[in-house]
Amino acid sequence: MKARNKVTIFCPFCKGQHIDEGLYAIKPHTVHLCFHCGEKFKVTKPTIGVRLDSNMTL
Ligand SMILES: [Zn+2]
Ligand SMILES: [Zn+2]
Repeated sequence: MKARNKVTIFCPFCKGQHIDEGLYAIKPHTVHLCFHCGEKFKVTKPTIGVRLDSNMTL
């Protein structure tokens, strides 16, 4: 079974989308820090927050 830890996460406090960058985009984690409102929220499985379309065209 393949582990799918890249998901779209939305902050339960401000409903803003949580996108992990840098080191957090490499290491799945259960406690995410929302950069919109500064609140921390916990998820059940270690995950990495990504954009809906994860195609990086920079
Ligand atoms: Zn938030
Ligand atoms: Zn995160």
